Amino acid sequence: MKEFKHFINGEYVSSASGKLFENRCPVDNSLIGKVHEAGEAEVDTAVRAAKAALKGPWGKMTQKQRSTMLHRIADRISERFDEFLDAECLDTGKPRSMASHIDIPRGAANFKEFADSMSHPTEGFRMDTPDGAGALNVGHRTPKGVIAVISPWNLPLLLMTFKVGPALACGNTVVVKPSEETPATATLLGEVMNECGVPPGVFNVVHGFGPDSAGAFLTTHPLVDAITFTGETRTGEVIMKAASVGLRNVSMECGGKNPGIVFADCDLEKAVEGTMRSAFVNCGQVCLGTERVYVERSIFDQFLARMKEEVAKLKLGRPEDPEANFGPLVSLEHRDKVKSYYDLALEEGATVEIGGGIPDMGAELNEGAWIEPTIWTGLADDARVVREEIFGPCCHIRPFDSEDEVIALANDTNYGLACAIWTENSARAIRVAEQMEVGLAWVNSWFLRDLRTSFGGAKHSGLGREGGVHGLEFYSETKNICIKL
Ligand code: NAD
Repeated sequence: MKEFKHFINGEYVSSASGKLFENRCPVDNSLIGKVHEAGEAEVDTAVRAAKAALKGPWGKMTQKQRSTMLHRIADRISERFDEFLDAECLDTGKPRSMASHIDIPRGAANFKEFADSMSHPTEGFRMDTPDGAGALNVGHRTPKGVIAVISPWNLPLLLMTFKVGPALACGNTVVVKPSEETPATATLLGEVMNECGVPPGVFNVVHGFGPDSAGAFLTTHPLVDAITFTGETRTGEVIMKAASVGLRNVSMECGGKNPGIVFADCDLEKAVEGTMRSAFVNCGQVCLGTERVYVERSIFDQFLARMKEEVAKLKLGRPEDPEANFGPLVSLEHRDKVKSYYDLALEEGATVEIGGGIPDMGAELNEGAWIEPTIWTGLADDARVVREEIFGPCCHIRPFDSEDEVIALANDTNYGLACAIWTENSARAIRVAEQMEVGLAWVNSWFLRDLRTSFGGAKHSGLGREGGVHGLEFYSETKNICIKL
C-alpha cells in the first residue's frame, strides 16, 4: 500500500497531526494507499519555504538557466513515463491508451512549451520632456512571488503542470494542492524536481481537501502572492473571496456546459467523430466537453443514429485493457452525482436514446465507479440537465432550424468556456464563432490546443486567461522603469 506525503522544501514529510485519508482506485474501489492531510502547520511551512526560495539560487538564475532546467524536468518525466502513467491510471481509472497519448506527454510538454514561450520582448517607449532631453521607459518583468496552484482531478498531471510550467518559467515558486482524489502524480513530480536539481522550496505539494483543510489554508495564507485555480465555479467563488484579502491576483479556470453546433453543411462523419470525442473522452470528465448538441433539423435523425451507433461501440474496461476506450468516473461519489442527473433526466421528460444506467461490469469491477455513456433527446431548454454541468459521459441532442436560433440557444447559459462548430461553410463558421460567448471556439475540431494561444472561459467559466503571453501577464509583475536622459 502506498503512502502519499507532502513535498516541502525538497523533502517528503508527514503531517504532524498524523491525519491520513484513503485513496481508492475507481476501477474496483480497491485501496491504493493513504494520503497525509496537511494542517495549517504544513501549509505554513510549505509557503514559507516557497517564499525563502525566491531569494535563493532560484531567484538568481537567468531566464535561460531556468528554461534549461524546465526542459530537463520535461525530459525526466518522459524518462519515467511508465511510472507517471501507472500512477495516473490507478488514481483516475482512465484507459492507458488515453493517458499515454494525452495526460503524460502533455503534462511533460507544459514545462518545455512554457519555458520557450515565456521570454517576452521588453516594452520600451522613448518620451519627450520639456527640457528636450527626453526619457526612456523600460517595462521590466519580475516574478509575482509564491503562487498557490489548486488543481482538479480530471487531468491531474496535465492541468497541474499547465500552471506550474509557466509559473516556474516566470521565476515564481509554487505550492500545489492537487485534488484529494488524485494525489499520485503531483507527489511523484517532487522526485523529478530533486533529480533535476530544482532548488528546495521552488516546488512544494501539500495534500488535503478544500474547506477547513489544505486548500483553504493555502488560499488564505498571507504570504501567497497569487492563486491559480482550476475546478468548479462555486469553489472559484470561495477562493476569490479568500484572495480579496491582500488584493491577491487570481486566475480561474472553471466549469462549462459547452455546446456543439452541427450544421447540415458539415462533413457528417467528422462531426460525429468530433462530437463523440468531445462528449465521451475521459468518461465525459473534461471541462471543455460537449454536453449540449444542437443539430440542424434536416440531418438530425441521421446524426443521432450515427452517434448511437458509435456509443454502442464504446468499450468499457480496465485501464490496461488495450481494447477499452472508456473507463470509470473518478470516484463513487462523483458517480452518484452523475447518476442523479441520469435519474433527473427521466423526471424532466427525456427520451433515453442509449445508456442511462450503471453497467454490469462483472463481480470484479462492480464495486467501481462505472456508468453508461448516455444520449438523451426531448428535454426542454430550461431542464436542469440541459443547464447544469454534469461532468459525465452524456449529452443531450436537440434539433434547430436557423443560424440565429442556434446561436441564441448555445449562448443561453451562465457558462462560457468552449464550443465546437461543425460546418464546411467557412464564412458561416467565422460568423457563428464570433458570436459565441465563450473563451474557446473550435471549428471542425475540438481540444486542438497550441499552448501559445489564450486559454480560459467567459461568464461563469472563469476569470483571466492563461497560455503563452497571457500566462506571462498573470505569472509576472510588470514594473515601468522611467529613466530621465
Ligand atoms: P473542485 O472545485 O471540487 O475542486 C478543485 C480543487 O479545489 C481541488 O483541489 C479541491 O480540493 C480544491 N478546493 C475545493 N474547495 C476549496 C476551497 N474552499 N478552498 C481551496 N481549495 C478548494 O473541482 P473538481 O471536482 O476537482 O473538478 C471538476 C470541475 O473542474 C468541473 O467543474 C470542471 O468543469 C472544472 N474544470 C475546469 C477546467 C478549465 O480549464 N476551465 C479544467 C478542468 C476542470
